Amino acid sequence: MSEDSTNRIKYALYSESWDAQIESPSELRRLARRVLANEYVDAMHGAIYCPGCFTALTRTPREKPFFANGRRACFAHLPTNRSIPCDLRSTRPEGKLFLTEEEAARAIANDELVVVSSFLSSRPEAPESSGVYDQTPVEDLTGPVSEVPIARHRDRTFRLPTRVSTIASLCRRFDENLYRYYVLPGSSEAVRLVDALTNVADVTEPTSAPSLYFGEIVATFNAGKSPKPTNIRMTQLRCNAGIADFYLKVKDQLQAEKGITDQAVGRYVLFWGKISVSGIGLSADHLGWGEFSLLPQKYEAYLPQGET
Ligand SMILES: [Zn+2]
Repeated sequence: MSEDSTNRIKYALYSESWDAQIESPSELRRLARRVLANEYVDAMHGAIYCPGCFTALTRTPREKPFFANGRRACFAHLPTNRSIPCDLRSTRPEGKLFLTEEEAARAIANDELVVVSSFLSSRPEAPESSGVYDQTPVEDLTGPVSEVPIARHRDRTFRLPTRVSTIASLCRRFDENLYRYYVLPGSSEAVRLVDALTNVADVTEPTSAPSLYFGEIVATFNAGKSPKPTNIRMTQLRCNAGIADFYLKVKDQLQAEKGITDQAVGRYVLFWGKISVSGIGLSADHLGWGEFSLLPQKYEAYLPQGET
């Protein structure tokens, strides 16, 4: 494995028509198909680009989907572009800092940076005129203008617009959001979404501050003796070998609204919350309406994985 090939590049942007000399990265993002390393075919050579720095990528090894040791092939930058900085080259991410408030505001306007002031705790009231149950997804709401400490000069903060968001909104365009920078509630760092996600299977202790997690549903059931929608639904997530079990504990009706029913085994859930001790295991409970969501299956391959 070359030093350059990290598994933080989940997909390459593939476009035959994009011209790096005259067209912008946002045009590439618009035109491109997102391809996984195992979807690469050699006809794509010369037309796949990094979602971080937009220079050309190659797959390594180029000819086959596995290395000789059985490790899966991955994307890597071309050695000829070594002088072009890209944070996705490194195994460990660093928070992005901005030189000026204007630069950070421009990144927000361009949808490259999102400052989330909070996640919605309950569903916003439907407009009174509609009268019917509104199935359209709730988009992010405007949050307060806040002092955000993402300046390159320490001790400086920028006054920036924020959003009140939902995990469902992160999941809806998960592919596009994956390489955006987010300042999550309570955080003083702008990190790419791909780097903000922690696998529940890596969690071994309770936490005192909320964070962003994902986990695979291994079992889920309504905990009532005679099940009612107001009972707690116990959704068991794949957990670390060092702990007994891990449950997401939220009312059945709220989980059902997110698609978490008896049929959701095998799917992945994303949530924003604290980890608590629960019996002999761990849990995430008291999650608000906007603080968890099922990830659409088509995006599961983009989730960060362990060292395999
Ligand atoms: Zn790059």
